[in-house]
Amino acid sequence: MHRGADGAAGDVGHTQVTVEDVSEAPACRCGNSGCVEAYAGGWALVRDLREAGRDVATVNDAVRLIRGGDLVAVRLARRAARILGGAIADTVNLFNPRVIAIGGQLAHTDEQLFAGIREIVYRRSLPLATRNLQIARSDLDPHAGILGLAQLLVDGIYTPERVQELIDGAVV
Ligand SMILES: [Zn+2]
Repeated sequence: MHRGADGAAGDVGHTQVTVEDVSEAPACRCGNSGCVEAYAGGWALVRDLREAGRDVATVNDAVRLIRGGDLVAVRLARRAARILGGAIADTVNLFNPRVIAIGGQLAHTDEQLFAGIREIVYRRSLPLATRNLQIARSDLDPHAGILGLAQLLVDGIYTPERVQELIDGAVV
């Protein structure tokens, strides 16, 4: 776990990207503009599909359009995959992970998202960092966040020092 000095590390979704054929970077929920999430997040796809005249209210609606082959939805999904791929490639170069597990509703767009992400990651990351890299849908979805939190708590509660304190306390 890489938390950073103040616990703010790892928010790859708020790294800034420049996207061709976009003159004004979209606003992000974090207050900045041009973040990965502002282009490639589920809510961003819903926004862009609505602007394109599609009848979508939720990310699941967007996923349904992508899986159904709607041309605008597929084009936006491919763009999202390229943007995510760029951010993931940078992350791979920094941390050399063994597995990239992608969760969330957009991860259920079949292979469209993953193919685009893999293409960019394998092109932009260092060969040594991608030799054994797996990019896959998270098996924990949609409970990854809560399971991760539970694991952090368990790790924190059952450190050897903490267990020793509990034992010492029980004896006294
Ligand atoms: Zn942001």
